[in-house]
Order: sequence, then structure tokens, then C-alpha cells
Amino acid sequence: MNKKVIIVGAGLGALASGLLLSRKGYKVEFIEKNSQAGGRLNQIKKDGFTFDTGPSFFSMSFVFKDFIEKCELDIPFKFVELDPLYSVNFKGSDKTFHLNKDIKQLAKQFVDIEPDFEEKMEKYLKKSKQLFEDTFDIVIRNNFDSVFDYVFKLMQVNPIHIPQLFNSFYTHVQKHFSSKEAKQVISLVAFFLGRTPFDTMAIYSLLSYTEFRHDGYYNVEGGMYNIVNGLVAELEKNGAVFHFNSEIIKVEKENDKVKKVIDKEGKEYLGDVFLINADAALFRGRVLNREKYCENKLAKMEWTMGYLTFYVGIKGKLPQLNLHNYYLGDNFEEYAKDVMHKPDTLQKPYFYVNNVSKYNPECAPEGCESLFFVCPVPNLQYKNNWDDAEDIVNSILEDFSKRIDIDIIPNIITKTIYTPKDWQDKFNLYQGSGLGLSHKLMQIGGLRPRNFDEEFSNMFYVGASTLPGAGLPMAVISAELAVERIFKYLG
Ligand SMILES: Cc1cc2nc3c(=O)[nH]c(=O)nc-3n(C[C@H](O)[C@H](O)[C@H](O)COP(=O)(O)OP(=O)(O)OC[C@H]3O[C@@H](n4cnc5c(N)ncnc54)[C@H](O)[C@@H]3O)c2cc1C
Repeated sequence: MNKKVIIVGAGLGALASGLLLSRKGYKVEFIEKNSQAGGRLNQIKKDGFTFDTGPSFFSMSFVFKDFIEKCELDIPFKFVELDPLYSVNFKGSDKTFHLNKDIKQLAKQFVDIEPDFEEKMEKYLKKSKQLFEDTFDIVIRNNFDSVFDYVFKLMQVNPIHIPQLFNSFYTHVQKHFSSKEAKQVISLVAFFLGRTPFDTMAIYSLLSYTEFRHDGYYNVEGGMYNIVNGLVAELEKNGAVFHFNSEIIKVEKENDKVKKVIDKEGKEYLGDVFLINADAALFRGRVLNREKYCENKLAKMEWTMGYLTFYVGIKGKLPQLNLHNYYLGDNFEEYAKDVMHKPDTLQKPYFYVNNVSKYNPECAPEGCESLFFVCPVPNLQYKNNWDDAEDIVNSILEDFSKRIDIDIIPNIITKTIYTPKDWQDKFNLYQGSGLGLSHKLMQIGGLRPRNFDEEFSNMFYVGASTLPGAGLPMAVISAELAVERIFKYLG
């Protein structure tokens, strides 16, 4: 006992791992490049407004509940179930779809455009449920010791799902629905994985079951950053130490073990075990100089799209907005096929608006709203120059104003823009890719960078680019999987 675990980074995967470790009596020290914890799950406070910087909701709340139970604690933040889950508006239409979990209610909104919507949706969700139940524990919530182990575990999955590995999400949805509105609205969830419905495997339609049936979506009272505040408070109670503004650039080894990690200023941190929350591929390439992750090889891997995000505080209330609002164009297929690679798509951007002050009035001054916009864009591999960011942001603000029939531009009190370059520089995200390594067939499960090091027996990895993948519930599962390995190592 009382061994020291050094955790590089303080994103959600790191914080969750640290809590599991500190609750078992291990000393935990976090080394974080930025001045506050959270990683992508972060917060901007400016001019009286509070904004969540990245995640604005999560699904699979049971993952958080199971995790906190393992820590033998009460959940240190309050989450609020969303209904409707989100709203979707198509360009040129004054109709807004409100995505209810209640399928009968939802069906009413499709009555004129998709005959028998309810029956079709029930059939589609039945299949999604089967996918979820047959894969979640085997493929998502599992460690893999080798590719052989992964393949062996995959063989336990019902073979009925094999075609879903080779079909796209959109092709699968298309088999169930005929109207463009239903197909686009149902397949939108694929964007949450950082790819598009056309290149995301149909197997991920299990997400439709998690959003509509199993669990829904949740927001956190006071804003998503309260997840971080709650976890940090518990960690501090357990004696965890945080070192901020310290970026690890080197490791020093002794035999097959890491002895210390060293930051840019030469500060050294010694420990018994090292857990890396920096990107699992990038850290191996740029800090450990591993040939398998050299710059050429990193460039050949497939990375998720970038995000242009901006945070706008405005005077006036917008009661017509939900918490989550999607504004789509009129060229879904063309847009989705081009968005990751072609900057031209930004002439007609699709975007998402989060109105955090709708349910959290403390996030904006009285009579004001805190709006957070996300626009999927090519990452820096495909668009390196972001001098036009301000113009793109203005075109989105103009489009948004038209769609809600209120010109918000003269009412802007504060505005902050993050381009993929900012995301890269702030959080060490490869080429500003928002969600890390993509979830294509050859980059999932046992084929993702491992959560244990190939050379150092006391080094492990947690976070979006190792097992199981991107998203907040996955970061928590990633922590459980990494800590399982650490407990095994420490005996
Ligand atoms: C715009 C956006 C919107 C999103 N929306 C959602 C959403 O609504 N719901 C959802 O579930 N997920 C969402 N996600 C995904 C989610 O944010 C991530 O999957 C999750 O937060 C990743 O956690 P992580 O553990 O990988 O750590 P990260 O957040 O990547 O944190 C890693 C930390 O390590 C630090 N670091 C990196 N290198 C070093 C180094 N060398 N030395 C010291 N520190 C280092 C970084 O500064 C960072 O703080 C979104 C992501 C983005 C970008």
C-alpha cells in the first residue's frame, strides 16, 4: 500500500482513475499541462458568463452510477435527465423536431412524412437493443491482452451482428426509414463519434437504443464542469495532489520500468506507477519516441474530425431554444461525405447550439443567455489555416439569427472562439482532432493503442484514444479498465 501513482493529465479518464486508486489507499499525483483539471470537459468563465467548453451532455448514466458505487461514495454532482433529448431544424423549414424518448410522441412529429413511424422505430430500436446487449460487456467493458484475446472475445458475440461491421450506420437506418428527415435525425448520433453516418459502422446504431430507450441523455446541474468540481473535491479529500501548468515531455527509465517523468521546465516526478491520460498514440510517438507511433505512422492513422467551437454571451432570453439544438442544412449526404476533408463545407455549415443557461440560470447574468456553438470541421490535417475563423463564426451567427428570427449579433456581450488549432494546443489533441483516434474497424477494441505499455511494466494509459473510445461514459470505463490493470500489476 501507499505506492504512488503519477497521472499525466487531468481529463475525465485521469480523474476517475485517480479516485478509484485513492479510495484504495494509493497516493495519487496529477501532472496537468493546463491551469485547471477536466481536459476537454472544461469551463470558460468570462464577463459574468459560464460556458462548458466541450461535452454538453452524456448518455449511459449507469456507467457513472456503477463507477461511484465502486468508489463507495455518493455521486458528487447532480445529473438531470433531458426530455426532449434535443431539437433539430432543417434549413428552409420552419418546423423544428423535438426528439422525445416517448416514441408515440415522437411519431406524431413524423406523421405526415414517415408512414408507420412508430412501428418502424420500434423495430429499429429492437435491433439496436440486441446490438447493445450482445456487445457492451464483451467489446466495450473489457480489457484485451492481445489481438488474439480480442478476436477470441469477439467470437462470443452473436454472429448475427457481423454484417453490421461492414454496413454503414446510414445504410442500416435507410433499411428502416424512407423519409430524409427520419433518416437524418436518427443517424445524427454517428456525429457524436467524430465521424459521419456514412463512414461509421452500423454496429454503433446501439447508440440509438441508449439515447431513445435504455437511458436517454443527461445534463449536470450548474453545468457539465460540476462533474470535474465534484471529482476533484473527492480526490482532494482523499489526499490527491494536483500540479498544474506542467507538461510532461520526457520519461526516465530504470530496467523495464519508468522511474520518473520530466516536464518542460525540467521538474521531475517520481512514482511507482505511471498512468498516462495524454493521447495514448501521441504520447507513445512524441514523448516515448516509439517507432510504431512516429509522425508518419500517426498521420496514417484515422483521426476524428475537428470542431470549431465558440462561446457567446448575449443580452436577452431565447425561450424558443432547447438545451441542445441542431441546425442542419439541405445537403446532408454531400455535407457528411465532405465535412471531414473539405474546407468548402464551411460555406454552408451545420451546427449545434447548447443553451446552458436554459436550465442553469447561474451560468448567465439575469436576462442573458450563455450559448455554446459547435460546428464539425476538418481537423488540421485537412485545413491548417484558420485565419477565416471569425468569418465562419459570423456566418453561423447570421444563419442562427435567421433560423430563430432574432438578430442576436448586436446583443453579443462576450465571444470566445476555439479552432482545431486551439484544441490541439490546449489539450495536445493530434491535429486538433476533437475525439482522438476514430472508431473504424481497425482502430477499435483490441486494435486500439493498448492501455498498458509495450515496454514499461509500470506504465498504463487511460482516455479517449485507448480502450474503449471517445465520450464521457467511455472515459469512465477506460479508467476502470486501466485501474484493473494497475491493481493486477501491484498485486
Ligand atoms: C467540442 C467537443 C464536444 C464534446 N461533446 C461531448 C458530449 O457532449 N458528450 C460526451 O460524452 N463527450 C463529448 N466529447 C468528448 C469528451 O470530451 C472526451 O471523450 C473526454 O472528455 C476525453 O477524456 P480523456 O480522459 O480522454 O481526457 P482529455 O479530456 O483528453 O484530457 C487529457 C488531459 O491531459 C492533458 N495533457 C495532454 N498531454 C499532456 C502532457 N504531456 N503533460 C501533461 N498533461 C497533458 C491535457 O491538457 C488534458 O487536460 C466532446 C469533445 C469535444 C472536443
